[in-house]
Amino acid sequence: MQEKLLNLQEAALNEIKDAQSIEQLESLRVKYLGKKGEITSILKEMGKLSAEERPVIGKVANEVREALESSINSKKEELKALEQQKQLASEVIDVTMPGKVFTVGKKHPITQIIDEVTEIFMGLGFSVAEGPEVETIENNFDALNAPKDHPSRDMSDTFYVNSELLLRTQTSPVQVRTMKNEELPIKVISPGRCFRYDSPDATHSPMFHQIEGLVVGKDVTMAQLKGTLDNFVQKLFGDATKTKFRPHNFPFTEPSAEVDVTCFKCGGDGCPMCKQEGWIEILGSGMVHPNVLRNCGIDPEIYSGFAFGMGVERLAMLKYEIDDIRLLFENDMRFLNQF
Ligand SMILES: [Zn+2]
Repeated sequence: MQEKLLNLQEAALNEIKDAQSIEQLESLRVKYLGKKGEITSILKEMGKLSAEERPVIGKVANEVREALESSINSKKEELKALEQQKQLASEVIDVTMPGKVFTVGKKHPITQIIDEVTEIFMGLGFSVAEGPEVETIENNFDALNAPKDHPSRDMSDTFYVNSELLLRTQTSPVQVRTMKNEELPIKVISPGRCFRYDSPDATHSPMFHQIEGLVVGKDVTMAQLKGTLDNFVQKLFGDATKTKFRPHNFPFTEPSAEVDVTCFKCGGDGCPMCKQEGWIEILGSGMVHPNVLRNCGIDPEIYSGFAFGMGVERLAMLKYEIDDIRLLFENDMRFLNQF
């Protein structure tokens, strides 16, 4: 019986040594050491042995069991380490591989201009006011002193929603809302989207952006308007930039002026950008019409104000030398990535 056990041990140790996987090792454990395993089945015959033989065989059987267990355990460690090595080898990182390219988005040129202009005016003490894109006819035209027969009121120029609402044609209704609702003095700019019934071409888009400014208080003068705009264009286009105010007519301001700046490309000498004139028109402005103040509940005998407005697309096209407004809204990344 002792010989049987020792033969079994030798056979088992050889099998364990040759095991290729942990699963295989596990099945060897069951085969030799399990409840129905080979050692157990040999020990079942112990009953046939004499009282002297029994402890001797029991001792051998335990030694065999221990030898097999420790052999299985050390083989198991060996196999584990091997598997880990294989895994590491298969997951090795190739540091020479090109990395993933992260595409970082950027602001649309229109947003860039709005941000830049807003920042300049905030530096001058203005705050930002916003309003709805669907406006009342009252806020968009009537309160702004637009004559009932003003051409901009035509169906062919304005998108009407119904008999009272329209898509705002300018950001000026934000000024009306501010004057009606805020306390004086007022010092705001209002950037935003506007809509007009225009067929798209190189310089027209039915959707476009404006930035308007409004200052209302006691003793607000045209000199302050000029000083504010001079300061603004110098910050936007450079310190050497000069302004030129040309008389104009807007229903909501009196007097009104269009504002030109010296061409920032040629400095005023004349070039294709300024059509050889040396000046570029960028703004409309003026002193707020007394009727507009009155319409908004402000007494023009006590208070005065100035306002100005500019087209964001025009500024973007000038600054980035874009020759077609439609490029700004086609969302072609090849175009937009340039800015
Ligand atoms: Zn020029």
